[in-house]
Formats: sequence, C-alpha cells, structure tokens
Amino acid sequence: MVCYYHLDKPAVGLCKYCERGLCSDCAAFAGDSLACRNLHEEQVREMELMMQKNILQSKRVGSDYMRNTIFYGTVGILFTAFGISQLKWLGLQALIYLMIGLALLWAAVANYLESRKYK
Ligand SMILES: [Zn+2]
Ligand SMILES: [Zn+2]
Repeated sequence: MVCYYHLDKPAVGLCKYCERGLCSDCAAFAGDSLACRNLHEEQVREMELMMQKNILQSKRVGSDYMRNTIFYGTVGILFTAFGISQLKWLGLQALIYLMIGLALLWAAVANYLESRKYK
C-alpha cells in the first residue's frame, strides 16, 4: 500500500476518517488514531471523543442504575418496615420514616426503569 498523496511513498497507516493510506509525512496523530495531516485531524479527534463517550456511557448505565436500584430498594424497605412497625409507638415520627422509605422505594423504581432503558 502506498500513500494516497505521495504514490511513491509507502503508507504507514490509514486515516480513520477517510481510510486513505498515509505516509509518515502525511500521517498525524489524533487521539489514538491516524489522520490526514491538516485535513482530517479534527474529524478523527471528534470521532475518538464520541467513541470514548459512548464507552463511558454504556459502562455507567449498565452497572450504576442497577446498583442504585438495589441500594435504594434495600434502604427503602428498611425505612418503610421500620416506619410501619413503629407507627403505633412513635406516631408522627414513624410517619416520617415511612415517607423516607417510600421516597427511597420510588427512587429505586425510577432507577430500575432507567436501567432497563439501556439494555
Ligand atoms: Zn483523511
Ligand atoms: Zn504522503
């Protein structure tokens, strides 16, 4: 394979944007990839950024929402159960625990629904 711009020079790699062969004079590093120097450097850098963002997002979404669901769910059930069991003795104070528990359970449901959206 030869350079797209210099047919007498061997290509050292491909531009990630246009996939043309590049010699060492034409190749520029944009992120982890090669790009046509002064032509596609910006485009390749943008492609790299988008890919990185996608990877980060899918990782974050997959595990974090499920972890939040389990956390809020567990704490929410504890608060709710405690509130109900103490309702007779503590009155209004138990009601506050109950409200916190229900709010946490609501957060758990919201996180669960979010986690399903991305699967
Ligand atoms: Zn290019
Ligand atoms: Zn060249």
